[in-house]
Amino acid sequence: MDLEHFETRINDRITELADHLQRIKKDLDQPLLADLNDQAIDLEDDEVLEGIGQAHQQEIRLLNAALTRIENGTYGVCQTCGDPISEARLEAVLYAPVCKDCAASAGGERRQ
Ligand SMILES: [Zn+2]
Repeated sequence: MDLEHFETRINDRITELADHLQRIKKDLDQPLLADLNDQAIDLEDDEVLEGIGQAHQQEIRLLNAALTRIENGTYGVCQTCGDPISEARLEAVLYAPVCKDCAASAGGERRQ
């Protein structure tokens, strides 16, 4: 397994998410528009943006945990059964903590 490849991809993804978070924060900091109709729309947008922001923060946490596993030498090893996680799965889900079988038996991706 080419750990360097995954480390690079994880770091790139964290940078991308952090950039996006910055943009979202900037957008959320903008003062509400004076017009009431616009304000309502703006508030709705803010809720959506906050949702995206939280999802990004969660993903960054998972990606950082994956970087720690690369350091520890446990990246790509299923945390439930200890089997290797397929590289195809890791390519799709960079921070996958468990193998496909365990994820399926746990009812989808484990939430941390
Ligand atoms: Zn497993």
